[in-house]
Amino acid sequence: MPGRLEHKVALVTGAGSGIGLESSLLFASEGANVILVDINVANAEKGVELITQRYKNVRAVAAKADVGKEADIKASVDLAVKEFGRLDVMFNNAGIMHPEDDNALNTEERIWDLTMQINLKGVWWGCKYAILAMRQNPADESKGLHIGGSIINTASFVAQLGAATPQLAYTASKGGVLAMTRELAMVHAREGIRVNSLCPGPLKTPLLMDFLNTEEKRQRRLVHLPMGRFGEAIEIAKAALFLASDESSYVTGADFNVDGGLSKAYVTAV
Ligand code: NAD
Repeated sequence: MPGRLEHKVALVTGAGSGIGLESSLLFASEGANVILVDINVANAEKGVELITQRYKNVRAVAAKADVGKEADIKASVDLAVKEFGRLDVMFNNAGIMHPEDDNALNTEERIWDLTMQINLKGVWWGCKYAILAMRQNPADESKGLHIGGSIINTASFVAQLGAATPQLAYTASKGGVLAMTRELAMVHAREGIRVNSLCPGPLKTPLLMDFLNTEEKRQRRLVHLPMGRFGEAIEIAKAALFLASDESSYVTGADFNVDGGLSKAYVTAV
């Protein structure tokens, strides 16, 4: 059975942990060559090792990049094209949730700016260089390779729902990702470039668990979750795989929720 990303090249940001790491492993298991990009390159390299041990038919490379710097993103995309000759999937997934991000009164401007730089500008730049690369993709229909590609931007359920446990900069940055993604999807639809937002619910990854560092804080969230549990990174990776592959060939501009029903909840079961 050919893999769902056979012959394709995928770049994943934030690939050293959580959703990015699980997605990199899953994409490789489905036949993709993967560029694992992270500011923590040691963790990205561990991901490369895992892929190299497990999947003999694909190749993975790690790259150090701060997605908050345009030159770093450009260099990562250039590396993908240099190593593998094309870019089919761009997963703009890296993001931060700053511990000092709070409400309108207490959030300092430097926290706001840092959050926007990484979570929103970083996604813009990821889209920009992916679009430029995807336009140049050599087509080979015998291998299922096309001009264009799939861009997936990680937003969040907080872009859709208000929370009385505020992280104003984070929420605003993710709302920006949703709006920007929709517009990019419209602009580039006729070039064969699909652009979708992935909206995870609250997950058991370091990003959220470091933030919810007491049982009280965790319970404050769990009561609102229809399934009574946090999600797992692999459950998001499986949705990213669908959006990355040609199985989602008629899906673009979506706010793709993978949130255990949270965004449809009023009263949850107890
Ligand atoms: P994680 O903390 O497990 O992984 C994030 C990775 O991004 C880390 O490896 C980190 O080193 C990397 N990173 C951080 N800043 C970077 C930068 N400037 N440049 C490059 N890499 C950088 O987090 P996760 O839960 O897997 O989160 C991934 C994405 O999912 C984020 O965009 C996050 O906002 C979003 N998200 C997470 C949750 C959740 O509950 N965990 C919910 C909704 C959305």
